[in-house]
Amino acid sequence: MYRTHTCGELNIKNVGQTVTLSGWVQRTRKLGGMTFVDLRDRYGITQLAFNSDENEALSTEATKLGREFVISIEGEVIERSSKNKKMPTGEIEIKIEKLTVLNQAKVPPFTIEDDTDGGEEIRMKYRYLDLRRNPLQENMRLRHKLTLETRNFLDSREFLDMETPYLIKSTPEGARDFVVPSRMNPGEFYALPQSPQTFKQLLMISGYDRYFQIVRCFRDEDLRADRQPEFTQIDCEMAFVDREDILNTFEGLAKHLFKKLKNVELPEFPRMKYVDAIKNYGSDKPDTRFGMEFQYLTELTKGKDFKIFEEAETVIGIVAKGCASYSRKELDKLIDFVKRPQVGALGLVWVKFNEDGSVKSSVDKFYSQEDLKAWGALDNAQPGDLMLVMSGELAKTQNAMNVLRLEMGDRLGLRDGGFSPLWVVDFPLLEWDEESGRYHAMHHPFTSPIPADMDKLATDPKNVFADAYDMVINGVELGGGSIRIHDKTIQSQMFDALGFTKEEAEAQFGFLLNAFEYGAPPHGGIAFGLDRIAAVISGQESIRDFIAFPKNNSGRDVMIDSPSPIDETQLDELTLQVVKTEQED
Ligand code: ASP
Repeated sequence: MYRTHTCGELNIKNVGQTVTLSGWVQRTRKLGGMTFVDLRDRYGITQLAFNSDENEALSTEATKLGREFVISIEGEVIERSSKNKKMPTGEIEIKIEKLTVLNQAKVPPFTIEDDTDGGEEIRMKYRYLDLRRNPLQENMRLRHKLTLETRNFLDSREFLDMETPYLIKSTPEGARDFVVPSRMNPGEFYALPQSPQTFKQLLMISGYDRYFQIVRCFRDEDLRADRQPEFTQIDCEMAFVDREDILNTFEGLAKHLFKKLKNVELPEFPRMKYVDAIKNYGSDKPDTRFGMEFQYLTELTKGKDFKIFEEAETVIGIVAKGCASYSRKELDKLIDFVKRPQVGALGLVWVKFNEDGSVKSSVDKFYSQEDLKAWGALDNAQPGDLMLVMSGELAKTQNAMNVLRLEMGDRLGLRDGGFSPLWVVDFPLLEWDEESGRYHAMHHPFTSPIPADMDKLATDPKNVFADAYDMVINGVELGGGSIRIHDKTIQSQMFDALGFTKEEAEAQFGFLLNAFEYGAPPHGGIAFGLDRIAAVISGQESIRDFIAFPKNNSGRDVMIDSPSPIDETQLDELTLQVVKTEQED
């Protein structure tokens, strides 16, 4: 027998019992005639005590145990003399009677402790060792609970968990596809799903009116901390529903998850129109844990000979509470911050509303105290507050101001903790894509216009709003979806608006268009990023820490060393050829 108990469960009540434990040696300490070993498994740590006066041979053996050796012991639970109240097992230790080394271990490349000395790269290479550490184990437990509670909630509401294929053809989520060559069909390829979008819609047509799947999706796009080439979605679809039904159902899911995992009661989710989100926050996923909404000063700033504002399409200000005391140096730092290429602003105007009621600004030459007070009045600026102003082209300025607003939120500690959820609704249906010089579906091409704009789809598609919605918490988009088109004529109008010819639409989505002719019910759905929900619930940024075996920023798995070349025979079988570029030769 390897164990009667885990390393996390013995306490003072077990004193006197003889137990068997197995696990990894976290560390060994010698104190006079005593040798102490911390034995670890995923449930916790138990202290083992070897007394050389009582059993010298065993004690000597214990001193030879290296870090991460796998051992099994038998012994008696005894009360410790120096107790550690912080550990659940801290009041006891095991007086060892028998020790078996089950396996030796090389010295690990970093310490397997909460605060490790290993850098990111080395921990990714030895991910199986990193996963032994408690913070990652906690993340994996949380993820497990998240999927479990998602299933519980959706099951209780009649959703069916159904699988859809991974070897499919392109799905239009706007990223590049990962493709898989087909040996049996030379020269042809499958695409890995960017999402199960078309399949879940087909399931609605098949009559499974509530579907869900916790499913891997694949997107070949540039990576960031919150993106991975393969990631997990909670993918859902419902038939015979309107938008309200969907929002209410999934607001329910979010509330359930936060309650079960964090014991947090989320408030009602306010609904914010996309245009208002952009206008007030410059972002379609605003962090609403704090205000600092945009104030449009454009009109107020005109006619005073300040050339930059005079020529600007828009002038936007935000008020940072209590920051009038910022020094010249701090203000210069902010100016440098907005001038970085990632933000892209040309400059920053500041206005200090001093405690004594006076106003000081970087544009005092052009604007009177009254002028500046009128700016501040728009957001009720109080003595002690600082206003930061940027100008330029509308969309660019909104963008830059969004970054500055978040930065100020960080500096003022307004983004630490708490949860502020909302729904962003009524996105534009189409978005102009500079690169290809054509319109793209902002969500995807199966998204329905809002009912009021249905008639405009054929005549004025670029001014149509979509019946699409995103769930946003703390500035992170946790999920998004839409009411779908279920009518073949409207779907064709949509493809027209996207510049697809009839043939192109038929070739890519003929199966779906055909299915629409066999009784498609009204339907809609949503998909959540599971990895992101896990990160946001835990108040963390990187989704990588919630994925057992993630890829690095170049999309590589450095542990198994993938992607990697394949051999000639495999290439031949697949009728593929690797064409070397000149550089490689
Ligand atoms: N398939 C969409 C996505 O992956 C979600 C949806 O519309 O349900 O973003």
